[in-house]
Amino acid sequence: MVVQKFGGTSVADPAAIRRLIEIVRAARTRDGRGPAVVVSAMSGVTDALLAIAAAAGAGKDADALGRVTQLRERHHVAARDLVPGAELPALTRHLDQQFDELTAVVKALVVLREVSPRTLDVVAAMGELLSSRMVAAALTEAGIPADWVDARRAIVTNDDHTRAVPLMRETMAAMRASVVPVLDAGRVPVLGGFVAATIEGHTTTLGRGGSDYSGAIVGAGTDAAEIQIWTDVDGMLTADPRVIAAPRLVPQLSFKEAAELAYFGAKVLHPSTILPAVERDIPVRILNSRKPEGDGTLITAAGAANGNAVTALACKRDVTVVDITSSRMLMAYGFLRQVFEIFERFTTAVDVVTTSEVSVSVTVDDRRHLEAIVEALRAFAEVCVEPEMALLCAVGDRLRNDPETAPRVVRVLEEVPLRMISQAASRRNITVIMRQADLPHAMQRLHEEFFAQ
Ligand code: ADP
Ligand code: ASP
Ligand code: MG
Repeated sequence: MVVQKFGGTSVADPAAIRRLIEIVRAARTRDGRGPAVVVSAMSGVTDALLAIAAAAGAGKDADALGRVTQLRERHHVAARDLVPGAELPALTRHLDQQFDELTAVVKALVVLREVSPRTLDVVAAMGELLSSRMVAAALTEAGIPADWVDARRAIVTNDDHTRAVPLMRETMAAMRASVVPVLDAGRVPVLGGFVAATIEGHTTTLGRGGSDYSGAIVGAGTDAAEIQIWTDVDGMLTADPRVIAAPRLVPQLSFKEAAELAYFGAKVLHPSTILPAVERDIPVRILNSRKPEGDGTLITAAGAANGNAVTALACKRDVTVVDITSSRMLMAYGFLRQVFEIFERFTTAVDVVTTSEVSVSVTVDDRRHLEAIVEALRAFAEVCVEPEMALLCAVGDRLRNDPETAPRVVRVLEEVPLRMISQAASRRNITVIMRQADLPHAMQRLHEEFFAQ
């Protein structure tokens, strides 16, 4: 059996959910078991819920409650369209319960004027809890026996709210108790992605884009033959389609290439998705729910047997470069340790690092603790912060055997001022950092160089 994860655009409206139903039906007919279905919130709903929480926390009750009404209406309209028959009263009841709870939380936040990460998770989780209820009812109504499974009883995490980390042993046990029996009964389990709970039962979420991660965890917990990520593009493309007009489909990728691309900005796959898949060697396939007949992109341990040195490009905006120069003349040993201890203390990940004799430059994505980090660094170094930078990276397993790629990247980008250049020991990627304003042009140049038709 397979796990099928459907992203926000693949459950955006009744037409999308009807396509989902046929995709599930086809998998069921083919495999005779499953599939297990994981769904995102309808597109835009998570953003709307976060805006509701922010408005409520700022005391703007009319604004927050107005948005709740809009969301309620959107879900009821979709429910009536998709589930006109016997399943409608129960579905309506579930949706109303959820929205009544949301309304109560909003009113509490308006009074408290404070949104804790734990409360934010309760609100953010509602999008997936709603969409999964709706999809389970729609499948049942379409003659596919399906059971809604509460993701909060299937995925167990730590209490790092808004970006919780799954506890795999507990999660596998929870999965055996909640998801596997549904499959064994010949039915289709339907779970909301992104959502989980702590051991104590407090609702958590896995970070933005986290439904892919849920899909992979369910794949591991059900011993699936394949984890399918159904989305709005044909698969992993040679570049971000919002930056490059006509990128090409990458038919096959290795887990390592996919992890690099996802980490460095290919939003089509949440970076953590790969972990549970790698541990159990379960292939991941990215597919287009509007074109279910396509082969998509297959991600496996081995990847493609042959092909270009560069498999795909990825890019990330809103990167901040921090230059740290030792105030002592020559670089004393222990300097790097001191520097990285500070990033560790403020739980901030560093993406790219370059060094010279007396200085080190790093890039960070997460600016939340930047001021405190800079202050701590200034105790022993000169620090210069440059925001609005972008990262562009060429990824490929075969880069290591191709000494020409690095000089080609630099040559093609000769008129773009490059702030940092990095090629790591794994030699699976070449990364350059530039001003954000230069990114579209640089991306275009590199894409033409490596993927011209
Ligand atoms: P979903 O809602 O299905 O999870 P996402 O919006 O999270 O979908 O991810 C799909 C989007 O990822 C695409 O619409 C595309 O704009 C973006 N994307 C960025 N880089 C790539 C890439 N290299 N290949 C494919 N899609 C990419
Ligand atoms: N709905 C969540 C988000 O928008 C999770 C996901 O769709 O993957 O981030
Ligand atoms: Mg996504």
